[in-house]
Amino acid sequence: MIKYEIIQVQNILNRHEDNFDGFSAVYTLNPYKGCEHACQYCYVLSEKYVPYKKKEEFFYKIQSKTNAAFLLNESLKKIPQDALIMIGSACDPYQPAETKYKNTRSILEVIYRYKNPVHIMTKSDLILQDIDILSKISAASFLAVSFSIMSDDELSLIFEPRAPKPSKRFKAMESLSSKGIRCGVAISPLCPYIVNKKTVKNIIAEANLSGAKYVFSDDLRLRDINKERFFVFVKKFYPKLSGRYEIMYSKRISPPAIFSKKINEMIEKISADMGMDTTLTGKTLPKIKKIQSELFEEKMEPQDFTRLTQEKSF
Ligand code: SF4
Repeated sequence: MIKYEIIQVQNILNRHEDNFDGFSAVYTLNPYKGCEHACQYCYVLSEKYVPYKKKEEFFYKIQSKTNAAFLLNESLKKIPQDALIMIGSACDPYQPAETKYKNTRSILEVIYRYKNPVHIMTKSDLILQDIDILSKISAASFLAVSFSIMSDDELSLIFEPRAPKPSKRFKAMESLSSKGIRCGVAISPLCPYIVNKKTVKNIIAEANLSGAKYVFSDDLRLRDINKERFFVFVKKFYPKLSGRYEIMYSKRISPPAIFSKKINEMIEKISADMGMDTTLTGKTLPKIKKIQSELFEEKMEPQDFTRLTQEKSF
């Protein structure tokens, strides 16, 4: 049973260590703490990231950061306008809680006022409920929506049992792309011996048909708790791979480079053949506009943000 809570946080933006794709800085932002999708490989489930004693609570206790939009409004006054805001680095911003709390929506409305570029990571077609504000951000600055997909529908049922099926994600990608919103696919995680070349080819082909403009991938990272959890999963569903995984991850959190190297070379080749990029921005330079003073004429107070959130709650 999922338990929802409303919380207030001290900070909403985290500065990312690396800058990339020409942005002056990258900040991550998560509207929720906890993620209902409960993917078997979830890398967030570790001592490092999850504050709960019972770590599995991360998948059942979903906390909505009710002051997120207000804090963001304050933070965006202080950071450069070409700093990328990445939404959903550690929890899906379009998990079911968003239907109730609309925190992600309130955050997007604030970002639209400041015109910062945005990158959204999701596994959910719930994103379509925000197609209006996403279209406005896309036209005014820069928006990239990455759908994380690592398998077909059948395999997703065991790896990501509570997330919308990949076929639904492709449909959402198609709808957003048809509105001119830049979409891509994150083939993630690349689980050794499970996500093979055929899987990757199929995902890129389907993404291309759905209007995706870029492809990237990420390794399967396993440390402490998520490693124990994933090993139990592998033992149950892939008993023959159990020993291999234990050896592969005995002294490291990622598989030896050889596993992803071959797949990444293939991704680069196929995406180039299909005219797709392998970076977020590709040849598209973010349209960072000069800050217009009228954007800030309407001063918003904390109660305005509370109203914004309450109006959208059920
Ligand atoms: S969607 Fe991401 S954060 Fe949520 S459970 Fe899956 S891997 Fe973890």
